Amino acid sequence: MFENMFRDLSVRGPGFPARLLCLLMLAGCGDRGVPAPAAERPAAASTAAPLSARALVTAANPYASEAGAMMLARGGTAVDAAIAAHLVLGLVEPQSSGLGGGGFMLVHDAASGSVDFFDGREVAPAGARVDMFMRGDEVMRYVEAWQSGLSVGVPGVVALYKLAHDQYGKLPWASLFEPAIDLAANGFVVSERLAGYLPRMAEITRLDENVGAREYFYPDGAPLKAGDLRLNEAYAKTLRRVAAEGPAAFYEGDVAEAIVMAATAEPNPGSLTLEDMAAYRAVKRESVCGSFRELTICSASPPSSGAMQIMMATMYDILSADAATLEEKIVAFVDAQRLAYADRDHYFGDPDRIDIPVEALLDPRYLASRAAAPFAPDAVPVHGDPAAVLGKPPISAGWGVDTTNESVGTTHLSVIDAAGNAVSFTATVEAAFGSSRWAAGFLLNNELTDFARRVPDDGMLPANAVAPGARPRSSMSPTIILDGEGDVLMVTGSPGGNSIPAYTQKSILAMLDWDLELQAALDFPNIIARGRRVRVEISDEPGPVLAEMLTGKGYDVQEREGENSGLHAILVRDGKLLGAADKRREGTVETVP
Ligand code: GLU
Repeated sequence: MFENMFRDLSVRGPGFPARLLCLLMLAGCGDRGVPAPAAERPAAASTAAPLSARALVTAANPYASEAGAMMLARGGTAVDAAIAAHLVLGLVEPQSSGLGGGGFMLVHDAASGSVDFFDGREVAPAGARVDMFMRGDEVMRYVEAWQSGLSVGVPGVVALYKLAHDQYGKLPWASLFEPAIDLAANGFVVSERLAGYLPRMAEITRLDENVGAREYFYPDGAPLKAGDLRLNEAYAKTLRRVAAEGPAAFYEGDVAEAIVMAATAEPNPGSLTLEDMAAYRAVKRESVCGSFRELTICSASPPSSGAMQIMMATMYDILSADAATLEEKIVAFVDAQRLAYADRDHYFGDPDRIDIPVEALLDPRYLASRAAAPFAPDAVPVHGDPAAVLGKPPISAGWGVDTTNESVGTTHLSVIDAAGNAVSFTATVEAAFGSSRWAAGFLLNNELTDFARRVPDDGMLPANAVAPGARPRSSMSPTIILDGEGDVLMVTGSPGGNSIPAYTQKSILAMLDWDLELQAALDFPNIIARGRRVRVEISDEPGPVLAEMLTGKGYDVQEREGENSGLHAILVRDGKLLGAADKRREGTVETVP
């Protein structure tokens, strides 16, 4: 019966799953739903596009998808389209990402077959200290840290754009800024999702108090409303400068000064300096790739947690080897997650600062031994020891217990261009509206709360401890899956803080193993199994059945609203493109015929 219900899902029309939308993960979501996508958009945008496009972009807001498609129509590459789309997101979806934040871009180059990772993660200022979030023996309250200048890292996306564009861009740099400048100068229609946040943000954050943010989001003291036309002249000005002069116009001079001023303002000022700004470098790193059956899964290497996509898929394969029903497959998915999260939480941090045994953690022999070890549903998962399993010297003196707590304020977009190049790009300001601090037309991130903020009493620092110049560990996992010939099969990724690895893996398994169509794979209830608890997204179906089944098997299950993924994915089938946008947000798919 369960199997039949599951089969039905693949043919369900729009509207499934219901009751999934919510505004604030932080506030526990409740019933503060927002309709999606934005009704005011005139364009014939859709959440799912058919298998006919030559090039395709799927992003979290219709304006952004359109900007990306405009670049693709002009003959731009997937990187050109991703940058143009993201510059628009920084305007129309400021709660999620923007110039004041960071991101990870994965690029598949069709000509060479390579998958490159461009790391634009924010870095801690030179003045950051391991105990900067401690107040005596206590760690600062999360909201206080979130809204502080201490949380602001040097923004990375502008440097990331340049690094990726230098290698993979085709259109002139300045032309990528045109759609965003046009919208900022002439106005965009405020979406329901953006407007829906603002009353609540005024209650819990300083968004309505900080200079700049207050005037922009609460003109005349009242929050922007859905349907309002909003101009952002300061953003247009900053973009014109960066378009004309390149990243130096952002990392030096007036814009850098405005960023430093906002980050070092009271209360709880940070230590960001102009030197920190000028020293920022995006980094091109090796992506991390591993086999999944005849396919290759590639994702972002540390400081990303992208390797978890391979860890989970490999262990899932082992754990589900004898699974005959969806029920058994879901149990395998849950256990694969619990094991992978435990290893991620223990070993991952800034790869330039600590040794992360990624290769050993991805070794099929290690993953097989980990999946084979008996593991009770109600046990607290602990990290494994790949060195011991593989007979290698110990990996590190040992890290302390992770205490990282990630909030939610991120976006994901996926693009494939006419030449078959693909981009999977996740960008963030960390929590909603970042630190609520405003400079030169955009919000500054609070990414440094992605470090483990607590200094443990025993002094055993976790791998993800605060350090000067370090990049905080991230859950962002932009992913590209290649087929047996090395061609792109799937592009996927999501926002969602600590739940990103689970959301992203669900989109992969639902598509490739549970026989769902792409949109249904995104719609499928999210299931997050980190630590002892298993969270199952509340949905009409099959969430309640899954929750009951897992409870019956002894798992500690919590049914939750607001498992607010923002999966934007592309599938290539028979050389044609199918795109889908997560109905939990207001994204759309735009195709170029
Ligand atoms: N800051 C988080 C990270 O880098 C992402 C937050 C989110 O997805 O909303 O992992």
